Amino acid sequence: MTPNPSIPRLLTCDVLYTGMGGAQSPGAVVVVGKTIAATGSLDDLRASYPHAAEESVGGIIAPPPVNAHTHLDMSAYDFCALPYFRWIPEVVVGQRERRGVLGALAGADALARLNVGGVGDIVFAAPVMEALLAREDLSGVLYIEAFAPRPEQADEVFGRLREQITGWRKLQRPDGPRLGISPHTPFTVSHRLMKRLADYAAGEGLPLQIHVAEHPSELELFQTGAGPLWANRLQALNPDTFAEVIGRVPEPGLTPVRYLDELGVLEARPTLIHMVNVTPDDIARVARAGCAVVTCPRSNHHLECGVFDWPAFAAAGVEIALGTDSVASGESLDVRQEVEFARQLYPRLDPRMLVRAAVKGGHRVVGTRTPFIRRGEAWHDWYIWG
Ligand SMILES: [Zn+2]
Repeated sequence: MTPNPSIPRLLTCDVLYTGMGGAQSPGAVVVVGKTIAATGSLDDLRASYPHAAEESVGGIIAPPPVNAHTHLDMSAYDFCALPYFRWIPEVVVGQRERRGVLGALAGADALARLNVGGVGDIVFAAPVMEALLAREDLSGVLYIEAFAPRPEQADEVFGRLREQITGWRKLQRPDGPRLGISPHTPFTVSHRLMKRLADYAAGEGLPLQIHVAEHPSELELFQTGAGPLWANRLQALNPDTFAEVIGRVPEPGLTPVRYLDELGVLEARPTLIHMVNVTPDDIARVARAGCAVVTCPRSNHHLECGVFDWPAFAAAGVEIALGTDSVASGESLDVRQEVEFARQLYPRLDPRMLVRAAVKGGHRVVGTRTPFIRRGEAWHDWYIWG
């Protein structure tokens, strides 16, 4: 039934986040015609609009969430949940012919259909970067990925990347996505390249994203220089030892976060992805440096990497955003589903925090503006998350 446009509609929901301040639960929005007349707590709006027609929309009213970490060029992959050390060879490598421009464009189309608020996308190859930079319906950051564990590769890889960035700057559009850099992880990028990229990004004002502490074996690698990450992944990339990659001897108490901090990389304020397997000291270092963190709860669950300690990061005042990672591990590009999953995963966490992180945290990470749901603005049905 089409609502009568002269009667105000009072839309009620479990969580209302307007883009400003904290979220409300339960919340409500008054809509007259196609315009927002008021937002606030359900009781207040019931009292102010006694003649409004009340409609329960269920879950959440908020601006569309931001997908702060994904790999759009893997959007043609099949989803597959497998333990991390099987998922990389069987899925990432196994389906690698599906990686590229076609997948990236299909992923960008999917984000547009979801009215995504913005994206933080890791780009693996130059043709994908060029295809996505041309998308005016995409906002956020496209991070070109660097992957080179041996220090002697650093100069060549850095030089090539700097040249590419200089060329791509001419392709950036005022309303389109911006360029960024993603040194893949602290163990697949040598200390020399990591430091050069961080210094370059800081000097040029380019945002950074780094995958950090995704799997528990990452800690073991930094503490012993050995373990499954060395044996199953790094050894095949031919560094002599892990000490050569990080430019120091692994030791008890060393973690990937402490390593990045002591290398001076956190000063460039990279956004840190995953951060599942961390110590209290790591969280304190990240908070001190002012780095934001992106969590990908479904991907971490599907690859059996552990659970991000959301309450500890929130208590330390770290900005948290949500991402899906690729569809191959996250299952879809819809951050609304990520929030639903997180609500099951963190039953004691206030759902208002999760929604705010998915919207505001995401916009902060990718440097875009959070739209406001407020009096006088147009109402859009996509504000209802369902
Ligand atoms: Zn990722």
